[in-house]
Amino acid sequence: MTAPARTLFVTTALPYANGPFHIGHIMEYIQADIWVRFQRMRGHTVHFVGADDAHGAPIMIAAEKEGLSPQAFVARIAAGRKAYLDGFHISFDHWHSTDSPENTELSQSIYRGLKANGLIDVRRIEQFFDPVKGMFLPDRYIKGECPSCGAKDQYGDSCEVCGSVYSPTELKNPYSALSGAQPELRSSDHYFFRLSDPRCQAFLREWTAGTDRHGEPRLQPEVLAKAQEWLGVGEEGGSLADWDISRDAPYFGIEIPDAPGKYFYVWLDAPIGYLASLKAHCAKRGIDFDALLADPATEQVHFIGKDIIYFHVLFWPATLKFGGHKTPDRVNVHGFITVSGEKMSKSRGTGISPLRYLEIGMNPEWLRYYIAAKLNARVEDVDFNPDDFVARVNSDLVGKYVNIASRAATFVNRFFDGKLAALAADPADPQAHRVAGLAAEVAAAYEGREFGRAIRLIMGYADEVNQYFDAHKPWELAKDPARRDALHEVCSRCLVAFHRLTILLKPILPATAARVEAFFGTPDLRWDDLGVRAGAASPARAIGRYEHLMTRVDPKTFDALFEPPQPATAGAAEIPASAAPISIDDFARIDLRIARIVAAEAVEGSDKLLRLTLDVGEGRLRNVFSGIKAAYDPARLVGRLTVLVANLAPRKMKFGVSEGMVLSASADDAGSPSGLYLLDADEGAQPGMKVR
Ligand SMILES: [Zn+2]
Repeated sequence: MTAPARTLFVTTALPYANGPFHIGHIMEYIQADIWVRFQRMRGHTVHFVGADDAHGAPIMIAAEKEGLSPQAFVARIAAGRKAYLDGFHISFDHWHSTDSPENTELSQSIYRGLKANGLIDVRRIEQFFDPVKGMFLPDRYIKGECPSCGAKDQYGDSCEVCGSVYSPTELKNPYSALSGAQPELRSSDHYFFRLSDPRCQAFLREWTAGTDRHGEPRLQPEVLAKAQEWLGVGEEGGSLADWDISRDAPYFGIEIPDAPGKYFYVWLDAPIGYLASLKAHCAKRGIDFDALLADPATEQVHFIGKDIIYFHVLFWPATLKFGGHKTPDRVNVHGFITVSGEKMSKSRGTGISPLRYLEIGMNPEWLRYYIAAKLNARVEDVDFNPDDFVARVNSDLVGKYVNIASRAATFVNRFFDGKLAALAADPADPQAHRVAGLAAEVAAAYEGREFGRAIRLIMGYADEVNQYFDAHKPWELAKDPARRDALHEVCSRCLVAFHRLTILLKPILPATAARVEAFFGTPDLRWDDLGVRAGAASPARAIGRYEHLMTRVDPKTFDALFEPPQPATAGAAEIPASAAPISIDDFARIDLRIARIVAAEAVEGSDKLLRLTLDVGEGRLRNVFSGIKAAYDPARLVGRLTVLVANLAPRKMKFGVSEGMVLSASADDAGSPSGLYLLDADEGAQPGMKVR
């Protein structure tokens, strides 16, 4: 089973840096991370990198609204990424930004390559100008009806209903999303990548229909079909239009060389961010980036969602090919995530906040396992269904897998001092062949991103082990001192099988696997440690003290995860005059923390609210709106301590999301808004301390 070692360069789509990760991002990262961890366990070298997609008009406009520079705006988003990536055990080697020197250099050099190949044209084009705002309108700020399907309120660059990509001037009945004004056409010089050139068309027809070095199709069948439709395969001539890759100042992006006032359109430099992140990662590790990237042995694999196929299977390979680089080996496309059959929607309260999932103490490996169980190699949507989630985690993961260890370990610890029996390595043992075949099937499933199939195979084996345990009734063997050897063998075989199951599940459950590795004293388990050659011994010899590996999901947890959106109310505590008695457990559900007020400011457009920036000792800052404006001068609040309800569901308010509530006292009638008294803590208390 030793294949030659591969070198893999793996990426996930770059998230736009205008907001925190949503559950769709986390699903993609989990998918790619499982694949990457599997490759690493096989002994392959993987460079797994991500980055924030930082440029473009939407970020420029959002930053301006908040009175921040685009760089400061993006830095604030980037600072929040680690909590999610660490929280869900996503093993990126490096996380970068497209607003970086590496990306500037690479984008400009690729552009020069395209130009040298005669594939850049400058054309004077008519473009929409917002007469109220006094600027050319970015695509995303022009809305209208899709020229292909007629859907209303579509953006100026692509249609969310039919997936068409077009230029804003093709929209019917356009309007400015910034001012609502009807835009005027004005002319300006734009730079075009000539994708209609016969060289590009010929290359893309060949590349999209090609196979990777392992003989597997480069694109999934449904993705290839879409690409061929766009390329006009089978029709007269190609239908791929030239691509406008420039934008006029003011724009947050990378300057086009020798073109003052012109910037690359964000979609040109965003995927180049994959290379920029790899370059920064190489610099950190002392690896020769140019050699690694150009090496024909380096496999380049992208994981993306189905909404950005067009950019990744047409624009991106052509950009690389004619910009002087190697083209990707694989583009792996996944569907969207839905919740109980509905598309995510924050307003309907069906969205799952990944951070909230972690904050309420749900185990990240439950989600990894559940998503893996639902994933296959096709471009299908994945439905998150709470009942299904509880069933799969509780019955499969805890009821089948963890159960083996908790039952068998009890006997081995009590009667045999934690030592496993020396099991005869019998080449004729049919079980050895069974496991070898299983390991190969599971490996093929991981390799082909058929994670649901891998889990079905693994759980089938777990069922067999549980049946073996039950059939031999160790609890009865234990009553008879004369049958100790039989007891020892049965429990040892189950624990060796559990050790193997752990190796098979390790790409999905890295944290649990680490605890099992410690339990058996077998660190850093690799695929080879399955010891599946007939007659090979398992590395497991003894066990430590068994500690519970994983708890079951309490279905009530979902009440907290899916808390319906609440009406936006000003933040002061509203406590009835005579509240009904509650138990200490009820009180314990409220997570009260000491917070330090790092910044405080009035909220424009509100006569009640202050925007507080709080340090709660979490390694990130929280934004909380509080209705204490009438009682406090914001400048006086900065630096002082207060008490925060830290596990209150985030509330989306008109001015932004409020992540908790600070406590204040007031008279019952609350007749005078200035009669509010913010809670304080004695000096010495530290941000993040629990209030009990
Ligand atoms: Zn459409």
